[in-house]
Order: sequence, then structure tokens, then C-alpha cells
Amino acid sequence: MRALFSCLLILASASSPFAQTSWPEDLLITPEKSNFVKTSTHAEVVAFLTAIQARSESVHVFSMGKSLEGKDIPVAILSKDKIKTAAEAHATGKPVIYIQGNIHAGEVEGKEVLMMLMREILLGDNAHLLENQILLFAPIYNTDSNDKMEKGKRPSQEDSPLEVGLRENSQGLDLNRDGMKMEALETRALFSEVILPWDPQVFVDLHTTNGTWHAYSLTWAPGYLSSGHAAPYEFVNNKMLPEITNSVKAKYDLTFGPFGDYSLREGWPPKNFYTYNHHPRYLVNQFGLRNRMSILSEAFAHERFYQRIHSTYRFVSEILEYTNAHATEIIETNKRAEVETLTSLQNAAGLKKGVRFKMVPLGALKDFRSYEYIQKKKEDGTVEFVRTGKITTLENVTYHARFEPTAESVVPTSYIIPSQFVALAENLKMHGIMIETLTKSITAQGEVFQIEKVEKAKQAFQGHALAQVDGKFTPATRKFKKGDFKVTLAQPLGNLIFYLLEPQSDDGLLTWNFFDDYIEKRKTENLPVEYPVFKVINKTQ
Ligand SMILES: [Zn+2]
Repeated sequence: MRALFSCLLILASASSPFAQTSWPEDLLITPEKSNFVKTSTHAEVVAFLTAIQARSESVHVFSMGKSLEGKDIPVAILSKDKIKTAAEAHATGKPVIYIQGNIHAGEVEGKEVLMMLMREILLGDNAHLLENQILLFAPIYNTDSNDKMEKGKRPSQEDSPLEVGLRENSQGLDLNRDGMKMEALETRALFSEVILPWDPQVFVDLHTTNGTWHAYSLTWAPGYLSSGHAAPYEFVNNKMLPEITNSVKAKYDLTFGPFGDYSLREGWPPKNFYTYNHHPRYLVNQFGLRNRMSILSEAFAHERFYQRIHSTYRFVSEILEYTNAHATEIIETNKRAEVETLTSLQNAAGLKKGVRFKMVPLGALKDFRSYEYIQKKKEDGTVEFVRTGKITTLENVTYHARFEPTAESVVPTSYIIPSQFVALAENLKMHGIMIETLTKSITAQGEVFQIEKVEKAKQAFQGHALAQVDGKFTPATRKFKKGDFKVTLAQPLGNLIFYLLEPQSDDGLLTWNFFDDYIEKRKTENLPVEYPVFKVINKTQ
């Protein structure tokens, strides 16, 4: 009886996908029309958006900006309130949830899934997902590179689909390493037209892995916690993602787990599973420093295209079920992070925060799934590992996904930046940081950082030789003139300001060479090199 009952339940819950059995031709996506051999081009995405906009009043499409080759980056606003502007969205009091696909244009599932979901939400059976939230979908963030399709660009996807686009944008930049320096046109468009005006409470970035043969259909990560407020991270990592993982297992028998890689160099079976790192150059991590929630989604590269679409579709739709059901809690959690951040920075006397971090264990993974490897002895006596087609479950695997400071620094009341560093001020403004320009000269008390050692990476990364300095802070009084920039820490993005401007930060603007010319000039002139951004420290706070 019990079996029959659960069977009926499954039938009832499964009935909805069949309610809408036919879509018009222009609402079918390219994988569906090509037996999953092809993925959509930019023109096909735009045509889909035009077609669906003609059929529903609950969607409005705008362009966040243009790529280097002049392609519009479309954003679809889905709301039952027919919202067209950020001001209208904020007036509803509902959270904005922003989801993007195709940041790496070889990782194409997210792009297709967002179009499928638009169909279901706007014209199908998922209209309830607009009850308590406003959705912003950017299916094709990296437009140019999507259309530079070639075979063999993503070896781990084994030509499924047959051809996909390139990882970097047309400027040769990885859009998911641009969260701090903001050099890509796409990043600038995203922040000026989406993140700053719409202020999404949750940001979801859709990817596909290219590594380890774990056996999860999809792996996820929260925006990692470094020097930001813990509340958004804890909500996503401890509540939202575990609950969603349980619900996709129960509803669709899909096994999802946390993101990571193991190394066969450490032998088999693996004892350690490592996530990626905490740097806010990754957009989801940067979002944590903004007191907002974020999720990294990674479909399993080695599955076939249609399976990756299925996993990503179920993940995104379950995220939206969750955010719709917990809309108020999400807003309140982020608000609490923002208020507490402001309070702690207003009373920051003596407060220290991490500027460099190392990855440490978070805990043990239960029932870790992986394809099994066997040993093969080579003729020279060495051993290599050969993957079998068998999925195994392992215990005692330590998950490395927490970040501990290895260096800390005092949080100042404000930073003062000499007026010559215009590019620096421009960067901060693109992040949404408030900057004052001094209207008269002032004398400030605080600390300067004396640079004693400069290290530059030998290998270029994203067109940069990443810099790192060591030295010491000394108490100082300095005069600043009219036109210099003052950045007060007590603002909602205070934690981000600290990460960007601390000289020893492992992902700050010094890392990204904003001070190279200045440092070089001082060295050539044989002058002591003082980090030019002054820390005002008000001890009487
Ligand atoms: Zn990716």
C-alpha cells in the first residue's frame, strides 16, 4: 500500500511537465532541435527572447551592454508585476535573483536551461516561481566567444555537444577572474547595469567542470567566506544548498555534492577533496563581500550534454523554489549582514581582518562518490591509475573548503588616495563604492605601509604579473590636498574596500598592478617606497 501510495504521488508530481506537451517551433531551443548535437548561437538566443517576449507580458528584455564585437548581452526580467526598471523592482520589496549562463562560453548548459525555464515560468506550469521574487536571467553572458564554436575545445565534454565556444572573452580575459580588476567590458556592463542598480540578493553563476571524475551529476559552492560577513555564506552553505541537494535527490534521484577536485598524485582512494580558492576575483566570492548570497553551479563535464542540461535545470529550478519560499528570510539575512558590517566598521578601533588566506579542512565528506580507479604497473615499475566505469562510495575523505587568514591587518576609518591614482578611483566606483573628493587640504593621522619587498609572478596571469608586497605599517601624519580621494570604510561595501585597498591583500588592486608604475618610479629614484594609499585610523572611536 505504501509503495502504491508513493507511486501515485510520483505520478501526481510528475504530471506537470506533461501538461504543456507542445511548444511552437520558435520556443524550442537548439539542442532540442538538433538531438543535442548543437548548442544555441547568440542569434538563436536573441530570437528565442524575442519570440517569448511576444507571447508573455511577464517578461521584459534589455541589454546590459555590448561585447567588444558589438553583440548585445541580453537580460530577461521575469516578474508577475511586469517590471521593467530596477526602481519598480525595489518598490515591490521582493528580492531580485540574478542567474547567468555561459560566463565560460564552452560551458553551455546554463544558457539552454535559462531559456527552458523561461518557457516553463512564463507559459508553462512554473508561474508560481514569480510569486515572491523577481528573476533576472542573462543566458549568454560571454556572447562573442559563444559563437566561435569549434570541436575539441572542451576535451572532458567529449564532443557533446559537438562544438562549443571559447572560454575567454574577445579581450582574451577570463570573465570569472575579473571580479576585482574589472577590465572586461562584460564585467563593467554587469556591474553598471545589473548588480549596482538591481542589487540582486542572490547571484547564481552556471558552469561545467573540467576535471575530476567524481560521480556527482552537479557540484556546487557558495560564495566563500574571507573577510566578509558570515551570514550570507552560512545561509547558503549550511541551509540552502544542503536542502536543495536533498530535494533533487528525493524528487529526481539526482546526486549533487560540493564542488572540488582530488589529485591522483596523492594516490587512490582519495583522502582529500579540494575546492577552488577564496579570491574575490571569482564573481561569486566577490558577491560575499557585498553582503549578498551567491552560488557556483558546476555541471559534471563527463556526462552527456542532455544529462548536464537535466542536472542544471533541476538545480536552478530547485534554487528558485527555495528562494521563492524563503524570500523574506533571504532579504533579512543579507540586511543583517549589511547592518552588522556597518556597525562593526563604525566602531572599528583595533579591529583586524584577514588579508591573505589559506585553504583548510571544513570537515569530512560522507559517502563521497567517485568513479573507481585501479592500479596498472608500467614496464618501468612505476604505477599509473586507470579509471574504471564503476562508481564507488568512499569514506574518510576530508573536504578542504574553509579559509583561514595567514595575515591580518588593522581596519582603518578611511583610506586616502592621492588624486594621481585616477584609475584606482575609477575601479572603486565601478564596484559601487562611495568616494569623496577632498574640497580642501587636510592633515590626517594614521598609518603608512613601508614596502620593503616586492615580488612579481614570473608567469603572466590574465595579462598580469601578479604583485605581492611585504613590509610594515608605521604610525604617520600626512597632508592631503584638495582633489585627493577619501574612501570611508563605514559603508555597505566596507569589506570589499578593505580587500581591494590593503597593500598585502592577496587579491587587491596592488595584486593587479595598479601601483606598478608608482613603485618602479620610486625604486628608480632610490626613494623609500611608501604605499601611497594612507590609512586614517581614528583611535578615539
Ligand atoms: Zn567555468
